[in-house]
Amino acid sequence: MDNKRLAEVMLPEIKHTPEYYLDKYKKRNLKGEAKVTRYAPSPTGFQHIGGVFAALAAERIAKQSEGVFYLRIEDTDQKREVEGAIADTIATMHNFNIDFDEGMTGEDTSKGEYGPYKQSERGEIYKTFAKDLIGRGLAYPCFCSEEEMNAIREEQTAMKETPGYYGKWAKCRDLTSKEAIARIEKGDKFVIRLKSPGNIENRVDFHDLVKGDISFPESNQDIVIIKSDGLPTYHFAHGIDDALMGTTHVTRGEEWLPSLPIHVQLFEVLGFEKPQYGHIPGVMKLDGETKRKLSKRKDPESAVSYYKEQGYPVQSVIEYLLNIINSNFEQWREENPTADYTEFPVALEKMSKSGALFDIIKLNDVSKNVICRMKADKVYELYIAWAKDYDKEMYDFMVKYEERGKALFNIDKEGPKPRKDYAKWSDVKEKVFYFFDELFYNEVKENIELPSNMDLEEAKRIAGAYAKIFDISNDKDTWFENLKAMALELGYAADKKTFKKNPENYKGMVSDVAGAVRSALTHRSNTPDLYTIMQIMDKDMVEERFKRFLDI
Ligand code: GLU
Repeated sequence: MDNKRLAEVMLPEIKHTPEYYLDKYKKRNLKGEAKVTRYAPSPTGFQHIGGVFAALAAERIAKQSEGVFYLRIEDTDQKREVEGAIADTIATMHNFNIDFDEGMTGEDTSKGEYGPYKQSERGEIYKTFAKDLIGRGLAYPCFCSEEEMNAIREEQTAMKETPGYYGKWAKCRDLTSKEAIARIEKGDKFVIRLKSPGNIENRVDFHDLVKGDISFPESNQDIVIIKSDGLPTYHFAHGIDDALMGTTHVTRGEEWLPSLPIHVQLFEVLGFEKPQYGHIPGVMKLDGETKRKLSKRKDPESAVSYYKEQGYPVQSVIEYLLNIINSNFEQWREENPTADYTEFPVALEKMSKSGALFDIIKLNDVSKNVICRMKADKVYELYIAWAKDYDKEMYDFMVKYEERGKALFNIDKEGPKPRKDYAKWSDVKEKVFYFFDELFYNEVKENIELPSNMDLEEAKRIAGAYAKIFDISNDKDTWFENLKAMALELGYAADKKTFKKNPENYKGMVSDVAGAVRSALTHRSNTPDLYTIMQIMDKDMVEERFKRFLDI
């Protein structure tokens, strides 16, 4: 009775009971294996690649089981809030093909039957459950000031005792309702704490979907459930929200694993069915010899915007993340080169337990494969979409010479071993600049690459001879025969004696002619197939290139 009165004095504005909400938010009617997962970020405004990693895993688990994936905004720490962050989160995820079935749809809008989906709007719900716990003697007001809390901590440190607010250290735990009511009526500030029924002598066995079987002592901490500002702590909000929203699988960062004993206890005290948990390892990076968390401050690649700026296709980033979610993705991709990535079954059990290593070299590798599998038109389309924002000059060329642009992305695409030239769109310019006179003729002489076995004069001699006989209307075989004939002729002229003795030894000379021609036309010593390049350039352009090369 006394507890009921205390509850009433503490939260007089709360009129509902837990039953009201348990009835309002009906148990979901899930078919078969359907799973309900969520992405639950704090709206801090910074989109970390680890967020996409976690969201992708949760989205796949829900979608592949034909379940529900929803977005909940955890904004109970209002200091960290940034305007526009919700819309930015939604747009970022959408860009990675991650869409929500339910939850927030904008800064102040949502869809679904289990809302509000923003924690700051769920105050009444949390307080209703807190009031009920107080009424049942399972929670209590704590009036300890910061100074008192510090004093407790200092004493615990001095006595080498476990820190925290529990057992004999929990000063307000045993206040009578009468005492508590008197303090509240005096206007003393308070937080609401759980009266933990736990005993650290007892162990709890638990199965985590990622970490496997784990065991931990029961929690005996009287954790804060409602802060002095009336908002819930993460622990309490997690319990209430995931229960009422019907989450079946809580996938979240492993930094929450140490809090699991608290959460297990909260679900029990609240009488809720526990969800399954999968604690996802953080995204790590190798820094010299040490593995450390990808840091917002030190690593540009921790920001989602980095991938956009560099021009990694979204598909590449998704496939790369799937690779670190489940390392068997790579093999699956090899066996199913044309399948949509959504057909790959993500399994939390197959996730690395110790930390997913993020590695740009591997990302480049994955991305080259992704781009290489795309049709040229698609590459062109994605490239100009990127260039429009990040390389206006290239955008203009690509639009002006659209046909050439599409053709150059088609070089060697159809063959058995398609080229893997680009990992990201910012790689393109350097590799194709010679297709555009405006860029090509700006190149300084020092940058011109020659075949390793000749100087500029020799390259000019060979290119000059070839310039007289080239014919791009020939089919590839005839074109090559001509190149070979030229090689023999030039080789013969250069070294009649050797040639006469052993004509078949002149194989190298074809590559010499090709090398000199390549330098003249592209200023590079390593390019895709020369015949194809000449076809894309057209006769006039090739002629002009030879002419200007000879004038250098
Ligand atoms: N808001 C929490 C975080 O960003 C979410 C953890 C969870 O998914 O439960 O870490």
